[in-house]
Amino acid sequence: MIKGKNIVGYSESALGSTTFKTFNPKENVANDAIIFEATAEEIDRACNLASKAFKIYRNTPGIKRAAFLNAIADEILALGNNLLDCYVLESGLPKGRAEGERERTIGQLRMFAKLVETEDWREPSHKSEGGSTKKMLIPIGPIAVFGASNFPLAYSTAGGDTASALAAGNPVIVKSHPMHAQTGELIASAIVNAAHKTGMPEGVFSNLNSNGIEVGTQLVLNPNIKAVGFTGSLNGGRALYDLAATREEPIPVFAEMGSINPVVITQKALQTRTPEIANMYADSITMGVGQFCTNPGLIIVLESDLTNSFVELLGEKLAKIPSFCMLHPNIHREYTSNKNLLSSQETVILVNEAEPPTKTNAAQARLVMTKGSSFLKNITLHQEVFGPFSMVVQYKDEDQLIRIIEKIEGQLTGTIIAEKSDYANISPVFEALQERVGRVVFNGVPTGVEVCDAMTHGGPYPASSDSRFTAVGPNAIRRWVRPISYQNVPEILLPEILRG
Ligand code: NAP
Repeated sequence: MIKGKNIVGYSESALGSTTFKTFNPKENVANDAIIFEATAEEIDRACNLASKAFKIYRNTPGIKRAAFLNAIADEILALGNNLLDCYVLESGLPKGRAEGERERTIGQLRMFAKLVETEDWREPSHKSEGGSTKKMLIPIGPIAVFGASNFPLAYSTAGGDTASALAAGNPVIVKSHPMHAQTGELIASAIVNAAHKTGMPEGVFSNLNSNGIEVGTQLVLNPNIKAVGFTGSLNGGRALYDLAATREEPIPVFAEMGSINPVVITQKALQTRTPEIANMYADSITMGVGQFCTNPGLIIVLESDLTNSFVELLGEKLAKIPSFCMLHPNIHREYTSNKNLLSSQETVILVNEAEPPTKTNAAQARLVMTKGSSFLKNITLHQEVFGPFSMVVQYKDEDQLIRIIEKIEGQLTGTIIAEKSDYANISPVFEALQERVGRVVFNGVPTGVEVCDAMTHGGPYPASSDSRFTAVGPNAIRRWVRPISYQNVPEILLPEILRG
């Protein structure tokens, strides 16, 4: 049963009187459970406990932290259908998606467990002339984690940020997402059960509820917090980044934000496989009701008759895909208003759109088109529209194509759809795109992010606040550590991996 309480260390807590409810977007009704917002006292207590826990947890052997992470995965699985039903109730997403996301979340936890079972991830170094200086990576302290609305599991309470921060030896305080606070509570209880079972110190994890910016603001300003992990909108990420910089001790904010994920398609590719590309992109634009940070929101192609046929076909395919419910009425409202804002700009024309949905909060997919010169002049056209929307930009020559790519803000991904015979001449486009993105995709779609060592999920600002790091894959752990050197330190005081 959902209690709606905050989890502060090992205690449930509901000291405040401000409450809220989550929402079922499919039924268009509020969910039953009453959720208590965290008070200033509860935030302070969570931060103090985390600071105390850090002194123990940072020295907890990797094998034990791995056992903790594996136990979290087991406890999440043990939540069974309860978790899946709650996820569906709060997100409007189908049960299959809930299952897939749960699998990914568990996979990430087990991946980080495996990583820290040995100490190699600390990059121990003995490389000094006289052999007296040694180096390795150590955790930085309590981390505040903000999850996103569109990934209630994989980028939220026990998502990649939490898993990687805990793996490195940092306590975590989650600011639960208000749209899926019940799902968050179930996951938080799984983490606390796992912490109990594996003997972790109290404060290694806390979960704070809120439906507004106050709790997150206080959390980021608390001196015991040493870094922030954020997945969400550009406005939210930037606000927290700026806030962290105002602290007496500024701290890093690793914010993964929005992206429009440009896709460049060559004429040769259109000559050989227009129907295939149109199908692939109609699916990618509407996948998850377009509610992915890797959604292809910008398709860049040369002005031509061939392009016009492709755009027409893409529009037809897109319009035929059934409309589905968005995550929340607020997200539906934002989608509609942003889509209309971009569509109403001068020179933007409607290519096609889905039938007006009959169900509440369902998104009407739309494809629009404009010219390269208009896109270069009007930065409103560069904005992310979070939902099943994409804009085709027709460029007039390669010089304009390069200028368009150079003008786009930093992106998570950039895609090139090309034939083998294009490869010899595509280098300038490839180079320009590489400068703007964290991941280049060839002949595929940007949606779908593999959790693997080679993955970079991040990119130049504003895709992320620090393009040197990834939020996905084992290297995500690097955000929560710092290097320390030991010079002439007696063996007995050195960590075991640096001895000898
Ligand atoms: P959001 O509105 O920014 O919310 C994210 C979290 O941050 C929430 O817990 C929110 O809490 C909090 N927050 C937002 N602004 C804040 C502020 N000024 N001060 C303190 N806390 C603040 O994002 P969302 O709508 O949930 O997620 C959708 C966005 O995420 C899209 O733009 C999508 O592209 C992006 N996204 C990016 C990635 C990635 O990996 N790059 C992955 C998924 C989604 P409150 O609502 O309580 O304020």
